[in-house]
Amino acid sequence: MSSTTTTSALMKTYQRLPLRILKGKGSYVWDDQDIKYLDYTSGIATCNLGHVPDQVQAKLSEQLENLWHCSNLYQIPVQEALAEKLASLSCFDQVFFCNSGAEANEAAIKLAKKYAKDHQKPERTEIVTFSNSFHGRTGSTMAATAQTKIHNGFTPLTPGFTYLPFNQPEAIEQIDTNKTAGVLLELVQGEGGVHPADIEWVKALYDYCKQADILFMVDEIQTGIGRTGSLFVYEQYDIEPDAITLAKGLGSGFPIGALLAKNKAADSFSPGTHGSTFGGNPLAATAGLATLEQISDPVFFNGLKEKYALLTEALIELAENNTLVKEVRGKGFLIGMEVENKAAIWVEKLREKQILVLTAGEHVVRILPPLTTKKEELFTFIEVITAIAADIEEKEE
Ligand SMILES: *Cc1c(COP(=O)(O)O)cnc(C)c1O
Repeated sequence: MSSTTTTSALMKTYQRLPLRILKGKGSYVWDDQDIKYLDYTSGIATCNLGHVPDQVQAKLSEQLENLWHCSNLYQIPVQEALAEKLASLSCFDQVFFCNSGAEANEAAIKLAKKYAKDHQKPERTEIVTFSNSFHGRTGSTMAATAQTKIHNGFTPLTPGFTYLPFNQPEAIEQIDTNKTAGVLLELVQGEGGVHPADIEWVKALYDYCKQADILFMVDEIQTGIGRTGSLFVYEQYDIEPDAITLAKGLGSGFPIGALLAKNKAADSFSPGTHGSTFGGNPLAATAGLATLEQISDPVFFNGLKEKYALLTEALIELAENNTLVKEVRGKGFLIGMEVENKAAIWVEKLREKQILVLTAGEHVVRILPPLTTKKEELFTFIEVITAIAADIEEKEE
């Protein structure tokens, strides 16, 4: 074993920070020195109810006593309950469960192709995605991701993807109706720098797809499950997509992914066309159901609006008073703060003060508090980041 590595036998797919996390509860995690950190990454938009939320933990513990796994060749009541819950809370009729975001997007890509074949348009084999998108790291989802830095070293890419410019009106007419089976897009690009899609552009794109019978599919892996201030971000765009994909926030940290679709599209998946051994297994489905039960409670979003406003207004004020902060973007608790210098500097300074945040590209600090964060925690965060901003600004001058 090499003595220069600090991550032992792990492949170096992540540049890991020297922080060994052993425990989490609510908005906090603790390291092996028992130092407490305010976790405003939420495990990258995953622990939306905070770490180890009580109700989810109780349901999971109960499920651990009964059944961990059962093949999808049998009926799994808790999985059916979760599918029904998802359908009742959305415009979709049917759900396919898998284990991650990339797998959910793989399912969506397959569904669009199958839909085209089933509807006498076998020449429609391509999926349109948009510049700066992020859809995953598997073969197809890496190819779907329109960022060359993600592709480097992995050519030839899986064929069948066309990239068009995000938020650009001219992109819409460039969609080739002869070749395109579906479009897949994020309504707020997460990894690509926290860029919300313009509502007018989305509506025009949606109308175009509807007219041409091209499946309109939204990647809600980062935006879904309350992250942006509604259960799903598409609700804020006044549209009904043909399908959406979910993962991150759905299981409060337990791995689960899902493809939700309207009957029209979903009916193209017949027995044997797609599958997953673990997809929606009893533990994952239990975590998902317990998470949704809490977030779909009508009162859940009431107190949140005030907290969103509190944080974004403070950051906008920071942008007005600090020359390094250029812009604050996002929706709800998916917030990007674009800075003049390297975002990593901000992440590092905050970590020194026991606060964890992320980057999204080189110049965007990404802030993802748990939806359950307390006002006092937000005040602490605002106070610390304001002080750090002044400090960084002074040093850069
Ligand atoms: C994280 C993410 C994915 C990939 O999810 P994995 O679970 O890591 O495979 C896909 N799309 C978006 C928008 C994401 O944020």
